Amino acid sequence: MSTRKPLIAANWKMYKTPSQSSEFVTAFLPLVQHHTRDEIVLCPPFVDIAAVVAGTRGSHIHVGGQNMIWQEEGAFTGEISAPMLLACGCSHVILGHSERRQFFGETDETVNKKLHAALKHKLTPIVCVGELLAERESGKTEEVLLRQTSKGLAGVAPDLAQSIVIAYEPVWAIGTGKTATPEMAAEAHRIIREQVARSLNRDIADKMRILYGGSVKPENASALMSQKEIDGALVGGASLDPQSFSKIVLY
Ligand code: PEP
Repeated sequence: MSTRKPLIAANWKMYKTPSQSSEFVTAFLPLVQHHTRDEIVLCPPFVDIAAVVAGTRGSHIHVGGQNMIWQEEGAFTGEISAPMLLACGCSHVILGHSERRQFFGETDETVNKKLHAALKHKLTPIVCVGELLAERESGKTEEVLLRQTSKGLAGVAPDLAQSIVIAYEPVWAIGTGKTATPEMAAEAHRIIREQVARSLNRDIADKMRILYGGSVKPENASALMSQKEIDGALVGGASLDPQSFSKIVLY
């Protein structure tokens, strides 16, 4: 029996204003208030963090950023740092989401720098990895996952690594309605976990939570979560509605 506590995280991407975020929280909290089996994290846009932190205060819901830079402060227009996320009440941060890689030049190297900064400041990092459709179709999935995982974790000291969470998000499944089958996801998770064991050590690999992301919905959540390799979900589109996200949390 796994000792890994499942984590279900909402990635709202660039959706919702502060007032819409507050409305979500007001509707969502009663739906999950007695639910402690899973760690629940809401990752709103930066401008909504204050509203979500205020709305969830005193509850067991955590709040995370969707990105950050590795520097602590400086002339980096438009960026947000780990100390800023912490000061706003965040405990988690998503790093290396495929949309950041695809549209904003995120690389394995920048993900690695951000990971070091998140760990230094004791934010729980949710590091995203996953192959493109062309990479899967040309048989490169394993190579991509090994590269993203090993470069992403480079130089991390095992004693700092306990809090790291990895999200396996096949890019072809994000926002497309296509989901990896539970077996495909489990196989990818095994590949990632073996690389974590090589990069860090076996004990950390066995304890590390690996989430699945890519068109998770109330209808497919329980089949995915029934795989022992799948330790939770990173949910985009279906996390925007409180009813739908609560059904995923309660899978
Ligand atoms: C995501 O944004 O991380 C994601 C998995 O999106 P979706 O659930 O919409 O596919």
